[in-house]
Amino acid sequence: MTGGDGTGPMGQGPVGGFMRGGRGRMGGPYAAGPGGVCKCPKCGYEQAHARGQPCFQIKCPKCGTTMVRA
Ligand SMILES: [Zn+2]
Repeated sequence: MTGGDGTGPMGQGPVGGFMRGGRGRMGGPYAAGPGGVCKCPKCGYEQAHARGQPCFQIKCPKCGTTMVRA
């Protein structure tokens, strides 16, 4: 089985390139995950960003300030 196409034992599987090539460059300085985090600019409270709901529509539960994308 040697001398095939050369893609045998090198392990060039999807494992290595999955993390890098998937969504590497979303065009932002923050490597936000699937949802990201919303943060209160006033008191610093953070919470997970709800998908489909922009941070600026969320009020800080502590001080009521509009959250921003962190
Ligand atoms: Zn706050």
